[in-house]
Amino acid sequence: EKTLHIVGGGMAGAEAAWQAANMGVHVVIHEMRPKVGTFAHRTGHLAEMVCSNSFRSDDDQQNAVGLLHWEMRAAGGIIMAAAHAHRLPAGGALAVDRDPFAAWVTEKLLAHPLISVSYEEITALPDDGHWIIATGPLTSGALAEAIRAETGADALAFFDAIAPIVYAESIDMSVAWMQSRYDKGETTAEQTAYMNCPMTRDQYEAFIDALLAAEKTEFKEGETAGYFDGCLPIEVMAERGRETLRFGPMKPVGLTNAHDPQVKAYAVVQLRRDNKLGTLYNMVGFQTKMKYGAQTAVFKLIPGLENASFARLGGIHRNTFLNSPTLLDDRMRLRSRPHIRFAGQVTGVEGYVESAAMGLLAGRMAAAEILGRDLAPPPPETATGALITHITGGADAKTFQPMNVNFGLFPPIDAKGGRRGRKDRYKAYTDRAKEAFTGWLNG
Ligand code: FAD
Repeated sequence: EKTLHIVGGGMAGAEAAWQAANMGVHVVIHEMRPKVGTFAHRTGHLAEMVCSNSFRSDDDQQNAVGLLHWEMRAAGGIIMAAAHAHRLPAGGALAVDRDPFAAWVTEKLLAHPLISVSYEEITALPDDGHWIIATGPLTSGALAEAIRAETGADALAFFDAIAPIVYAESIDMSVAWMQSRYDKGETTAEQTAYMNCPMTRDQYEAFIDALLAAEKTEFKEGETAGYFDGCLPIEVMAERGRETLRFGPMKPVGLTNAHDPQVKAYAVVQLRRDNKLGTLYNMVGFQTKMKYGAQTAVFKLIPGLENASFARLGGIHRNTFLNSPTLLDDRMRLRSRPHIRFAGQVTGVEGYVESAAMGLLAGRMAAAEILGRDLAPPPPETATGALITHITGGADAKTFQPMNVNFGLFPPIDAKGGRRGRKDRYKAYTDRAKEAFTGWLNG
């Protein structure tokens, strides 16, 4: 059986089909729309954008998502080609005219001699053949159940309760300190997983006031089912009582302020190391429905985070995704059933571009396998490689949450601080990535 079956014709499935077919492999896309819908999709097109019409920054020199655009173009990606064909003026961002965009992708795929589309919902995991599952954040219930039965309940999430992630270098270490609660025997900073930001009583009260007053986003219809099984947003905890957070995620116990050992903090915000590189820290328990602008304003009230910059802000969304660090190998195969790959947002990346990039990679890897070859992932110095390395190994499996591409995922490049320094450094990241990605494509 030499056919590649792809479940889901969204951003990832469309790109995977295009890549595999262009390598000479027969592809069948199994797409449930328009027969079975989701609460967010409106059409029967492949590659429908469900919300904003933006692929974010197109700057391939200073921005990690712009770099991902560059890599996908270099690899002949259909999503980037379609975006270019239907782009709208939007400054440095790549915004598109969404309906013609999706119609264009659909037409190109249907016209490809090696691609066909079967409009049906897949409800079980296949026993043999070559498969990519790219069913996205709104994977249908029956298939989600089948995945859950295979992987175990803890390994498939239905919501992302995202705690904000901060760049380590932007945390003021003259205020924060490294320590695990009740010291777990770590002796060096490298071994310590936690960073702590202390609050006085006044600072805590001001923080709670700001939290309660902040603007929040509402859940969409059909989005809330099962939500209260997950973690509560911090503002909901604060609404239940002003002290709730101080007895929950902000409890000050088991910690001694290294800068001021005599003074007991009234509350403590703990950040936990979020990647092996130690460049990203996760604000533990701080999932929130505050609007993005409100989040940055409120979190800057936390001592040590006055100048924090965020790799991603918090959120709570309906989102079906795997615990990829435990379930997938570095070829994107399900360890327990290696004839099945996963791609797109269901693997724990987030966003149209990231999802399409993971489709690109899965399509190429699956096609290579069908052709009797093995394709290694691109090196971690590339945007595509940084993402796949993060989700299949670099991320902490215990706190795994969906990730956007960002420079914190790349092996660090040292450069002098300051604005000028940052510009040079991002340019160094993107130069290094382009060279490595070109090498991978030619290899
Ligand atoms: P999708 O594009 O969703 O494609 C999955 C496909 O699989 C769909 O076509 C679906 O119909 C199909 N499918 C599902 N189950 C089955 C089945 N059992 N059998 C057959 N077919 C099936 N990202 C952004 O970058 N910007 C945003 O503004 C944004 N807003 C979002 C808003 C909402 C409400 C949601 C839910 C997501 C949003 N996202 C946004 C994330 C966005 O959905 C993803 O980034 C992207 O679409 C994921 O691509 P994908 O291919 O993995 O999934």
